[in-house]
Amino acid sequence: MNTFSYLRAGDVPAAVREVAADGEARFIAGGTNLIDLMKENVERPRLLVDITHLPLGEIQPSADGGLRLGALVTNTDVAYHEQVERRYPLLSKAILAGASAQLRNMATVGGNLMQRTRCYYFYDTATPCNKRDPGTGCPAIPGFNRIHAILGTSEHCIATHPSDMCVALAVLEAVVRVTGPGGDRAIPFAEFHRLPGDTPHIDTNLCPGEIITAVDLPAKGFSEHHAYLKVRDRASYAFALVSVAAALEMDGETVLDARVALGGVAHKPWRDRQAEELLRGRTATEEHFQEVAEAMLRAAKGSGHNTFKIELAKRVIVRGLKEAAARREDR
Ligand SMILES: Cc1cc2nc3c(=O)[nH]c(=O)nc-3n(C[C@H](O)[C@H](O)[C@H](O)COP(=O)(O)OP(=O)(O)OC[C@H]3O[C@@H](n4cnc5c(N)ncnc54)[C@H](O)[C@@H]3O)c2cc1C
Ligand code: SF4
Repeated sequence: MNTFSYLRAGDVPAAVREVAADGEARFIAGGTNLIDLMKENVERPRLLVDITHLPLGEIQPSADGGLRLGALVTNTDVAYHEQVERRYPLLSKAILAGASAQLRNMATVGGNLMQRTRCYYFYDTATPCNKRDPGTGCPAIPGFNRIHAILGTSEHCIATHPSDMCVALAVLEAVVRVTGPGGDRAIPFAEFHRLPGDTPHIDTNLCPGEIITAVDLPAKGFSEHHAYLKVRDRASYAFALVSVAAALEMDGETVLDARVALGGVAHKPWRDRQAEELLRGRTATEEHFQEVAEAMLRAAKGSGHNTFKIELAKRVIVRGLKEAAARREDR
């Protein structure tokens, strides 16, 4: 039994102050990931700062024509928000592909971004793990690695980021708003999560004490041509083996803009701008989608049990792009 203190923050500056002052303090929002990690002895915070009463629970239009999602809005409230369903259906679909209704009712926008990997060794404190205990090694690389990464890995860690919502946010090019001891800043979504490199214990580019206050969705929502596909071991209540968020801007059969992000294959939602460029100005054919898939997976590397993901990811990309290219009413 690990003892810890609990504090309910009255405002954002107080929450930041408390967590910045103690390296062993953690914010707690819905608690759906942090409490599990505490029960497994993976996280042992000295202080929990409850942020659920902070005024970060609104969805509001932003000045640039987009939408601002407060960090404490639940995954359910984002997915079923009228504006999100109408303007950003890709995001609704990605969220609803994740977890269960009960979990989505508790899970928050900020917590979803910050959730930790589902690597079995990370959860098992009887085994070494560079992410949980830096410098101890990575048993997943020679071990059982069916759910692990095939892109952007390092010799120190092959974990994946497990979120569905974040795959859609990567394609939408959301911006993460944060407040910390040094003030406010905005982090482009592509720069929020990190690759493992030789510091796999650091998942994101948040500085110590920084709190996520909101996620901004740009005006462009790809409501006409998009798809979110998730392949998993069972139909409900499972993390993605591979998922894809695909979004296209089309003029007739010609692709004006293409964005593709993969989930379940890397330490962060995976995009490849050069591969996406292959579609610009070309017709939306299976042959051209196949070229994108081959380019996105060119540097992929399997570790044995997860090598099947390379071919799977290619097929999921092609299917996702085909679905996105189909007009809304044709689906
Ligand atoms: C059985 C199960 C199945 C699941 N399946 C899926 C799935 O298929 N797809 C999927 O995407 N997710 C899935 N999830 C994960 C779920 O989406 C996350 O647990 C949830 O989004 C975390 O949000 P939370 O508010 O509960 O975070 P918490 O557990 O409260 O916090 C998680 C982390 O985020 C930090 N944090 C929280 N809010 C902030 C903030 N505003 N600023 C800075 N740091 C913050 C906390 O300090 C903590 O480190 C599943 C979870 C479970 C338990
Ligand atoms: S893959 Fe990463 S999280 Fe999993 S055991 Fe290796 S170092 Fe730990």
